[in-house]
Amino acid sequence: MAELFIDGQWRSPEAGGTRTITCPADGREVATVSEATAADVVRAVEAARAAFDRGDWPSTPAVARAQVLRALADDLERERDTVARLESGDTGKRFVESQIDVDDIVAVFRHFADLAAAEAGRVVDTGMPDIASRVVHEPVGVCALITPWNYPLLQTSWKVAPALAAGNTFVLKPSELTPSTSIWLMEALTRAGLPPGVGNLVLGTGADVGAALTESPLVDLVSFTGGLHTGRAIMAAASGTVKRIALELGGKNPFVLFADADLDAAIDNALTAIFLDSGQVCSAGSRLIVQEEVHDQVVTELVRRAEGIRLGGPFDEEAESGPLISEDHRTKVHAYVEQAVADGAELLAGGSAPSQGDLTSGTYYLPTILDRCTQEMACVHDESFGPVLTVETFSGEDDLEAERAAVAIANDTVYGLAGAVWTQNAGRAERVAARLRHGTIWINDFHPYVPQAEWGGYGQSGIGRELGRAGLEEYRETKHIWHNTRPARADWFRDRG
Ligand code: NAD
Repeated sequence: MAELFIDGQWRSPEAGGTRTITCPADGREVATVSEATAADVVRAVEAARAAFDRGDWPSTPAVARAQVLRALADDLERERDTVARLESGDTGKRFVESQIDVDDIVAVFRHFADLAAAEAGRVVDTGMPDIASRVVHEPVGVCALITPWNYPLLQTSWKVAPALAAGNTFVLKPSELTPSTSIWLMEALTRAGLPPGVGNLVLGTGADVGAALTESPLVDLVSFTGGLHTGRAIMAAASGTVKRIALELGGKNPFVLFADADLDAAIDNALTAIFLDSGQVCSAGSRLIVQEEVHDQVVTELVRRAEGIRLGGPFDEEAESGPLISEDHRTKVHAYVEQAVADGAELLAGGSAPSQGDLTSGTYYLPTILDRCTQEMACVHDESFGPVLTVETFSGEDDLEAERAAVAIANDTVYGLAGAVWTQNAGRAERVAARLRHGTIWINDFHPYVPQAEWGGYGQSGIGRELGRAGLEEYRETKHIWHNTRPARADWFRDRG
């Protein structure tokens, strides 16, 4: 049974319980893990603190740190299918999707290895002959890395890779529902040469383990990906010790569709935007905002296509999407749909769990389309995080008025993670993209990301940007060193002998 990884060793928790992990696709048991107590969190944080304050990792040359990340990426590439199987076991997602996730993770570790190796400060020209002035980057310290269940190892890699590249030590707490690939990661990091204490793992719930991490005075930075309400709680908890925080929270991401778009491609992408991974994607295109004149045509086709989506488990080769993560989550998603219908939305597809066949042993939910939605409805402004597409419409007397109407609806959210605009008018595409208050805008596309570009939200979708050059910024301090090479008296105060 996997336990806790502290100071380079697997250890038993002081008194914590155990948790059985079941696959949401069919309910089979895939792992049993030990969960930590607050006392275990203290041990893990102390190990990370000692490794930072007294160990070599923070001062290890960046090229050597990069080698560890590259060795990890190579190992992951070799073990692609083993890791993908673990991920699919915990999440129920299709095996091919987990394989794609592993490929993305390999790219993330290599990207941050490149960034670490290219790491350099800068010389400041003061214009003074005897002064050598430079700006250097240093690691922040001990990082608490708290991750969700939807892309467990990918989300973890977005934190572990930059934290290590910048020279930090960390304590990782994955979602209690999906611990398996984090356990693999700790073993792989050890094989890759990470010194003991630099990377530590504690398993358990947010209330017990996550909160103990965010409150610890020995932690310097909390990097969290998860829900908005948890993010707010973490921000409040971190304020007690003025920790650095990076928050990647949710989204209510608009898919703005103009009548002049390539409708065939747009409809196909709108389906992927919301139904990929059953909508359990932070950047899912959960709000279709469509120009009134093509509403009927678009919605009719969307419903036809949504009803044809094949659900199934990780190894069902016909399956196009998988289950929701848990029964609790399915109950929450269904409550949003029921409330929307009670509030006047028209249910055109889905709206329930599948009632027949093998799917009844998993936590599946049918692809759902709610038409005639309005911003007041909870499922339009809250994240249901399920396969639920809400449809709103816009119109205008002329082109510019229509654009303004679409943008106003798309920006009417506390979130601001991602969004798309579909049109064949290049000027309109750029005008609308410029006005959308969301951190990533796709024009005539949806979902792709590259590790070289920043990822992060406007509004309450988060604080800080992950990935890209700015990704390393979050995990390091910047110091200005002023060196007077010709020390002289300051002569400010008179020497009174
Ligand atoms: P969640 O907020 O419930 O949990 C995320 C993590 O926080 C888990 O490890 C959990 O145990 C921990 N946690 C819970 N309460 C805590 C507390 N008080 N203190 C410290 N840690 C605590 O989220 P989830 O249900 O696991 O994941 C789904 C959410 O994640 C969605 O809202 C989704 O939008 C968001 N998400 C955002 C992004 C992004 O890039 N913005 C990416 C993926 C997921």
